[in-house]
Amino acid sequence: MRFSDIHGLTKTKHHLISSVQRNKVAHAQLFSGVEGSALLPMALAYGTYLNCEHPGDTDACGECAACTKSLKYVHPDIHFIYPVSGTEEVKVKDAVSKVFLPAWRKFLLASPYGNVVDWAITFGGENKNLNISKEESRQMIDALSLTAFEGRYKIMLIWMPEYLHPFAANGILKLLEEPAANTVFLLVSPQKDRLLGTIRSRTQLVQIPAFSDEEMVHILTREYQLDEEKARQLAQLADGSLRTALQLHEEADLNLHDMFIDWMRLCFARDYLKISDTADKFAGLAKAAQKTFLLYGLQILRESLVAGFEEDKLLRIRGNSRTFVKKFSQTLNMAAIDLLAAKISDAHYYLERNANAKIVFMNLSMIFTKSFNR
Ligand SMILES: [Zn+2]
Repeated sequence: MRFSDIHGLTKTKHHLISSVQRNKVAHAQLFSGVEGSALLPMALAYGTYLNCEHPGDTDACGECAACTKSLKYVHPDIHFIYPVSGTEEVKVKDAVSKVFLPAWRKFLLASPYGNVVDWAITFGGENKNLNISKEESRQMIDALSLTAFEGRYKIMLIWMPEYLHPFAANGILKLLEEPAANTVFLLVSPQKDRLLGTIRSRTQLVQIPAFSDEEMVHILTREYQLDEEKARQLAQLADGSLRTALQLHEEADLNLHDMFIDWMRLCFARDYLKISDTADKFAGLAKAAQKTFLLYGLQILRESLVAGFEEDKLLRIRGNSRTFVKKFSQTLNMAAIDLLAAKISDAHYYLERNANAKIVFMNLSMIFTKSFNR
């Protein structure tokens, strides 16, 4: 990974690069931010940059011997530690990061925005208890005590340090406090509040901003070839997490907008027969898709509230949906929209707890029908 592989976030990149140029690289840094943002990619790009033989003003060269190795995640001075578990092939007591290195490289290349669940699926540890063991911290200390190295920096990247076993955490405290020369710890954590205070206090925080809607749309349209309208819907639902956007896209390849409008028309017209058909159709979708659809509905209602206050410039929604939102806000009063939003939220909660989708959807339809005809 290089900085240029990550869209936007110019300020963060500049901050990291200038620390290297000014020779002020903090020896323990904590990359933090929301899950699914550029946390891990940014730490990987920084690692590449730190050891590049011809670093430029904005990025690693990508061509030197060090970069070639870094980009394949085989650089001998870039060590990776991540939570693991026993699997069908690996006994619990043997489960340390380096045993799963091939799977880890695959994960970094295929889904660097992924979370711990995605990682567990990649290495065969789903539904297991993942952790970073005491044995792991011992090996970490060994790896760093070997003095011969070829890079400028010896890097220890710890992904999800919140999974450190307390013994392991204590084992590395001293290293974090007084690391060997040219050793850099990069801790990457979406939940820094779950870290031991003693670890947090020994690291310098690098806060990675979540992607803005615009950045997300850019990534989804350019790198994943989604059309703009669809990308915008996903960006609004995903709230800065590229992982969530991609997952929603995979799980629910739906035209949310048309579905929602058709449904609202039926409710408005009190066409109970068709409402029942639509409820059946809805019940037939995958649960993730049902939930995505409700989140979209919620988004429309929230935007309608904003539109009701005539705060046009505050509207996040664009295109067809924007026109619809404006009309919607003229059809219903604020109190009614507020109530409906709460009802959609409830429905989402019920679905999560495995309520019957047809009944949930029929109930919602009745509530909408009543509101429209008051
Ligand atoms: Zn290079």
